[in-house]
Amino acid sequence: MQKRRGFAGVVTTGIYCRPTCRVKPPRPENVRWFASRAAAEAAGFRPCRRCRPEVAVAARGAGTRPAKRRATSL
Ligand SMILES: [Zn+2]
Repeated sequence: MQKRRGFAGVVTTGIYCRPTCRVKPPRPENVRWFASRAAAEAAGFRPCRRCRPEVAVAARGAGTRPAKRRATSL
């Protein structure tokens, strides 16, 4: 199989997964590929509860992007 990037949205379930998800692969004709989870959610898909695509992306972003700390000064 070819490695595919992005997120795979399954039209029959309305859920999108990471390519590394270990759930049973759906039929290719039922899969829509998205470059980002935002694109998948914009199309009406929900994140998979097994591979947790939204958590994976958030964790990766938290490591590279420091949290904004705004001083409470006036
Ligand atoms: Zn999944």
